[in-house]
Amino acid sequence: MLLGAIADDFTGATDLCSMLVRGGMRTVQLIGVPRLSEMGPNDVPPDADAVVVALKSRTAPVKEAVEQSLAALHWLRAGGARQFFFKYCSTFDSTDKGNIGPVADALIDALGCGFALACPAFPTNARTVYLGHLFAGGVLLNESGMENHPLTPMKDANLVRVLSRQTDGTVGLVPFGTVDQGAVAIRRAMTGLKEQGRRYAIVDAVSDAHLVAIGEAAEHHALITGGSGIAMGLPANFRRAGLLKEAGDPSALPAVAGHTAVLSGSCSRATLMQLGRAREHLPVFELDPLTMPDAAALAAGALAWAEGKLGATPIVIAASAPPEKVAAVQARFGRDEAGTLIEDAMAHIAFELVARGVRRMVVAGGETSGAAVARLGVRSLRIGPEIDPGVPWTLAEGSGPPLMLALKSGNFGAPDFFTKAFQMLGA
Ligand code: ADP
Repeated sequence: MLLGAIADDFTGATDLCSMLVRGGMRTVQLIGVPRLSEMGPNDVPPDADAVVVALKSRTAPVKEAVEQSLAALHWLRAGGARQFFFKYCSTFDSTDKGNIGPVADALIDALGCGFALACPAFPTNARTVYLGHLFAGGVLLNESGMENHPLTPMKDANLVRVLSRQTDGTVGLVPFGTVDQGAVAIRRAMTGLKEQGRRYAIVDAVSDAHLVAIGEAAEHHALITGGSGIAMGLPANFRRAGLLKEAGDPSALPAVAGHTAVLSGSCSRATLMQLGRAREHLPVFELDPLTMPDAAALAAGALAWAEGKLGATPIVIAASAPPEKVAAVQARFGRDEAGTLIEDAMAHIAFELVARGVRRMVVAGGETSGAAVARLGVRSLRIGPEIDPGVPWTLAEGSGPPLMLALKSGNFGAPDFFTKAFQMLGA
C-alpha cells in the first residue's frame, strides 16, 4: 500500500478512488474502519496501491469523527501506507466546531508531522481557490447556495479564516502567484510557512496544472488534506520514485456472471431523468409508500413483481419520485421516517435480489447505497472502470458472494446511465 486515505463520507471516498485509478493506482475502498484484529490477507488487498477508508464523519459529533479518523489512520499505518490523505468535500463542508480542523489536527499530531496543506480545489467541478477564497460554480462559496446547507452552512469563503476557527494552530496561505510558478516555488513556500510555525497552508489552485504541481511539491509530506482534486498529482510521485509498478489496467476487474438489476432511491433531478430514459427500454417497478407504508410489505411487492423477470436484461425497482410526490410522502410519515422506511425496503430488496442470483447491480442515491451496502455485508469495493465521471463499477466483497456494484450519488451520471452501465459489462 502506497497511499492510505481517510474520507469523511461514502460517495466522496468513491470519487477519490476514481481519481487515483485514473492516475494508474489500483485502489480499494473500505466501508468503515476494519478492526485491527481482523487484519489478514483479505483485509489489506496485497495488490492495492491505494486504500481509501470511507467514514461517515462529515457531520458526526467532533469526538466521534476524530476517533474514527484516528482508528482509520492506525489501520492504514499498520497496513504499511507511506503517505496519508484526509479527504473532505470540495466545498469544505464544516462548521466552526469542525470537523475538518479537529480531524486534521488529530492526524497531524498522531503522525508527528506538524504541518499539512489544505486544498479543496477541483477545477473540473468548478471548485477553485484564489487568494484563499473558495469559489463554487464561478461564485464565492458563501453565495453558491452552500450558505444555506442544512448541516454545514458555509457563510465565509475565506478558507484561512474558516480553518483558523476550527484549530488552535495557525493557518497560512500559498497564493496564486507562487502556485503558478510551479512545484519548486510551492515547496519552498510551504517549507517557509512550516518554519514560521504555521500548522496549515491553504494552497490556491485554479487549474489542473496547479493541482499537479501542488501534488509534486507535497511528495514528502506525511499528510495531505483536501478534495479529490488534489490527489491528481500523487500517483506521479510514486511512479517517479519507482514505487508504482505498472501492472496493466488499474481498473480491470474480474468478470462476475449473474442477473442484473437497478435499485433507485434517489429523488434528484438527474436520477429522475435517468429513470425516464430507462422506462423506454427496461421493465420498471415503482414502490408506493402511500398505499403500502411498511418496509417488509413494500419489499415483498417488488420481489413478487421481479419473480420470473431476472436475467441478463436489467430490471428496475424505484422509490424515486418528483418533489410533489416526495412532499406528500413526507407529510404523511415525516421526512426522516419516510427516508428510513424506503431505505429499509430498498436494503431488503437488495439482499433478496442477491439471494435470487443478482450479481450486477446499480444503486442510485447516496443514503440508499449506504443502506444497501450495510445490509449486503459489503466490506470493500475494488474500483473498476468509470461509467460516468465519479461513478465506477466496483467489485464488492464481504460476507456475501462477490458482486459488481455501481453506487451512484443522486446527481451523478448522464441520462442513459442505467442502460450504459450494463452495456459496459456486455450485459
Ligand atoms: P441522493 O443521492 O439523491 O441524495 P439518497 O438516497 O441519499 O439520494 O437520498 C434520498 C432519500 O429520499 C432517501 O432517504 C430515500 O429513502 C428517500 N426517498 C426515496 N423515495 C422517496 C419517496 N418517494 N418519498 C419520500 N422519500 C423518498
